[in-house]
Amino acid sequence: MAAEQVILITGCSSGIGRATAVEAVARGHRVFASARNPVDLADLEGSGRLSALRLDVTDPDSIHAAVEAVQARAGRIDALVNNAGYGQYGAVEEITPAEWRAQFDVNFFGAIETTRAVLPVMRALGGGTIVMVSSVAGKISIPFASPYCSSKHALEAVADALRVEVSRFGIRVVLVEPGPIETRFGERVRSVVGPLLARPGPYRESYAGAERAMDGDFQRGKLPARSVGCVILDAIESRRPRARYRVTGLAKVLIPVSRVMPDGWMDALMRRSLKTPPGR
Ligand code: NAP
Repeated sequence: MAAEQVILITGCSSGIGRATAVEAVARGHRVFASARNPVDLADLEGSGRLSALRLDVTDPDSIHAAVEAVQARAGRIDALVNNAGYGQYGAVEEITPAEWRAQFDVNFFGAIETTRAVLPVMRALGGGTIVMVSSVAGKISIPFASPYCSSKHALEAVADALRVEVSRFGIRVVLVEPGPIETRFGERVRSVVGPLLARPGPYRESYAGAERAMDGDFQRGKLPARSVGCVILDAIESRRPRARYRVTGLAKVLIPVSRVMPDGWMDALMRRSLKTPPGR
């Protein structure tokens, strides 16, 4: 078993964050699992190794209070897992400015602000690991999911720069890029885009195709949340973690293929999955 580490995780009410917290406890680490509503974590608190904290990544006060609480109780933070996130889907034209901003506030600025709060602690400690939970969507842009994809692309850009900026302090930055995972993500996407789907508009037919793709092609090789949790923990425990870890067959195949595929081929692939005609 690897040496005990103090790990702070965002978005542990469900899915990947929760599975990572459970896996970290099972591996003997000291875990600070956070959620917007800590009541959602009550069932995780049985073991003395896990403490529940309130942390809303869009609320800087709650981020700083959580970081201070971890330091007060454990005296250190060895790893931060920036996991909190959701998917704002819809056509570029139909997403409101408020919806665009809300997506970036959680998926992008939330992770940046939490990272900025933890970095001084890690620098003082002489090292640590920052994990950014990105996605296949951090490398490939999916039509009718561009707010989500662009927020994850932006996160990848920051992580690639940050990795070099903080390496001199012994801090490692790791990107995890999952494909489809069994969590509440899809359910939340539906609750966010429900009103869009219900009202008439120029993209109505395309949304029907996008919905079918979301339930079909884009779900191939879906894995349980624990598989991502294990990869995250392997990276944290590794002496020399890789810059990025792809989880699911889809992520492992599609990301490298997309790097060499001409743009026109990628567009055709997306149109075929979404059953969208090429147009005039
Ligand atoms: P999930 O089950 O919906 O979990 C998302 C978590 O993020 C929830 O705990 C949610 O908390 C939290 N969250 C949302 N807004 C927040 C905020 N403002 N502050 C703090 N926490 C907030 O979905 P998941 O799949 O596990 O998602 C976790 C991460 O994995 C996300 O970054 C997602 O983009 C990424 N990912 C997922 C998949 C997939 O197929 N599932 C694939 C690739 C990447 P509440 O309960 O309070 O809303």
